[in-house]
Amino acid sequence: MTGQAAWRSNARCASITGSLATTFFSEELEDMAVAKRICAERPVMADCLEGALDRYEPYGVWGGQLFLNGKVLTKKRRRGRPPKAVRPEEDFPLVPIPERLLPLLRIA
Ligand code: SF4
Repeated sequence: MTGQAAWRSNARCASITGSLATTFFSEELEDMAVAKRICAERPVMADCLEGALDRYEPYGVWGGQLFLNGKVLTKKRRRGRPPKAVRPEEDFPLVPIPERLLPLLRIA
C-alpha cells in the first residue's frame, strides 16, 4: 500500500458505519463537533486534510476541518438568534492545521 491508500487504512471514519458515519456530513453542530474531535485523535489527520483541500471537498468534516464548497469554515453557528451561552456539545474544537498545509488553505 502506498501514498493515499496507506493512510486510508488508518482512517477511523472508514470503519465507521451507521449513524456515526453520517456524523461527518451532518447539518447538526453537535455532530460536526463530534466529527472534529474524532479527526483530532487520528494520526492521519494531516494527510486527510491535504487530500480534502486537493479535491476541493464540497461538504463535510475532513481532517478535523469543516468544509463547504472546497473551503474551510472556521466558524459555524446554529441558525437563528445566537444563544446567550455556547452549549458545551456545540463548542467547536479548534483542530490545528499543520503548518505545511497553510499555503493550501482556502477559508470561507
Ligand atoms: S481525519 Fe477524520 S475525516 Fe479524515 S480519515 Fe480520519 S476520521 Fe476520517
